[in-house]
Amino acid sequence: MSKYYRDRVAVVTGAGSGIGRALCKALAADGAKVWATDLDAKAAQATAETIGQPERHRHLDVTDAAQFEEVIDSIWTEEGPIDLLFNNAGIAVIGHYHEMSLADFNRLIDVNLRGVFHGVQAIYPRMMARGSGHIVNTSSVSGLIPAPGFTAYSATKHAVVGLSRGLRLEAQKHGVRVSAICPGFIDTELAQNADYRGIDGEAARKASPIEFGTPEACARDALKGVAKNQGEIVVTAHAKAMVAAHKHTPRIFGALARAGVKRSEK
Ligand code: NAD
Repeated sequence: MSKYYRDRVAVVTGAGSGIGRALCKALAADGAKVWATDLDAKAAQATAETIGQPERHRHLDVTDAAQFEEVIDSIWTEEGPIDLLFNNAGIAVIGHYHEMSLADFNRLIDVNLRGVFHGVQAIYPRMMARGSGHIVNTSSVSGLIPAPGFTAYSATKHAVVGLSRGLRLEAQKHGVRVSAICPGFIDTELAQNADYRGIDGEAARKASPIEFGTPEACARDALKGVAKNQGEIVVTAHAKAMVAAHKHTPRIFGALARAGVKRSEK
C-alpha cells in the first residue's frame, strides 16, 4: 500500500474494463478518491460501484476535447483539485500495415493519441497553476520497441511516450509530474474488441509463447512506479525482456518478432 495515493483525487479514462478498472481498484484500495470515466457509461458506473465509490463516475469519450474539458471541470468543482489523471483509454487495430485503411489509422490516432492530448490539454494548465499534479499516460511496450503486426498501434504508443518524455521535462519546473506506463501483453478485453486485418487474433494468441499478465498485477506494478515518479514504467517481465532484447540484440529481436507475426497470418 502506497501513501502516495491516500486522499488524492484521481481520474481514470477507459476505466470500465481491463487495466483502467484495475487501476481504479488499486487506487481506491490505497485510499484515493477515484473518478471512473469511460466511453461506456454503464461500465464506468459498474467500476465506481465495484470500488465502493458509486457516485464517482462520468461518461467520457476521450476523442471529444470539449467533453474532456467539461468532465475535468465538473469533477474539479464537485470534488476539488485533481491530483492524478490517468490517460488510459485505448483501442487496438491489429494487422499488416498494407491491409489497414486510412479510417483504421485515424481511429487509432483519435483515441490513443488525440485522446491523451485532450486529457493533457484539460488538466495541465490547472495543475500548473496549482503547482502540483501527476499525469500518467498509458502507452505500451510497443511504444518503446518495433511491433510488426501492431505497427500503426505502436506508432500511436511511441507518440504517447514522446509526449510524456517531453512534457515530463517541461512540467517539472511547474511542480507537475508526468509518467508513461508501458505494459506488455495483459489479459483484458482489448484483443477481443480489436479489429484484425490479415491476422487471426485467436491464432496469434494461441501461438504466443508469452504468458499474459493480469490487469491487477499490471495496475499494482504501474502504481508503484508512479508513486516513485518514474518516467517510464515497463510492466511485466516479458515486456522488460523485449526492451532489453531490442536494445542489445536487435537482429535476434527482429527475427523473433517477424516469426511471431508469421505464425498468426491468415
Ligand atoms: P480494454 O479494452 O479492456 O479497456 C479499454 C477501455 O477503454 C474500455 O473500457 C473502453 O470502453 C474504453 N474506451 C475505448 N475507446 C474510448 C474512448 N474513445 N473514450 C473513452 N474510453 C474509451 O483494454 P485495456 O487492455 O485495459 O487497455 C487500456 C490501455 O492499456 C489502452 O491504452 C491500451 O492500449 C493499453 N495497453 C494494453 C495492453 C494489453 O495487452 N491489454 C498492453 C499495453 C498497453
